[in-house]
Amino acid sequence: MALKDARMIYTRNKNTNLQLRVIPGHFVTNHSHINYYVDMTEPRMIYRKARKVAEVLSRKYKNILPVDTIFCMDNMEVVGTMLAECLADAHLGMGSHSKKDVAVVTPEVDNTGRLILRDNLKPLVTDRDCVILVASASTGYTVHKGLETVKFYGGVVRGVSAIFSKIHHQDGVDVDSVFTLEDLPDYRSYDYTNCPYCKKGEPIDAMANGHGYSVL
Ligand SMILES: [Zn+2]
Repeated sequence: MALKDARMIYTRNKNTNLQLRVIPGHFVTNHSHINYYVDMTEPRMIYRKARKVAEVLSRKYKNILPVDTIFCMDNMEVVGTMLAECLADAHLGMGSHSKKDVAVVTPEVDNTGRLILRDNLKPLVTDRDCVILVASASTGYTVHKGLETVKFYGGVVRGVSAIFSKIHHQDGVDVDSVFTLEDLPDYRSYDYTNCPYCKKGEPIDAMANGHGYSVL
């Protein structure tokens, strides 16, 4: 079965020593069919790996500080916390911003699927310089949703960061990632109406969402 053929790919930045496991197969997500499951478990959940991801992602923002808030989606709170630490340390080196702190905020998903912030969280986003942090940006759907939400609450988006991204921009905002399509050039995502594997009658291996996958 395809899911047993898991293989490793490596970031093109050889200095990071970061590796990302990908699993070939026919996967169904909420909004696409994909030919690889990009496994975020270790870079997202394991301390030293998450820390390394955050260090790599923080490089971009050290030049465009300050960042007030990391807006976490896709269970990215561990990386978000490490990124906040990296950026708070960078603030320390900036004199006038030395007392500036960094918030890590996760939106709530209401029963219609909309992302919301309760009143106590709004001040951490409204009029704040925000970074949207996602695990994976493939179709741009998740990033678009994050952008919409931060803008709705009056936040200023300073950038979008991901562990893996197929896209470089979304809605006019740069998407920065540790791994890109160059690391996984044959990665494909399709609209469910236009999936070549479905057209060939290939069975679906697993359902995938922001939390992980479940083999069918
Ligand atoms: Zn399909």
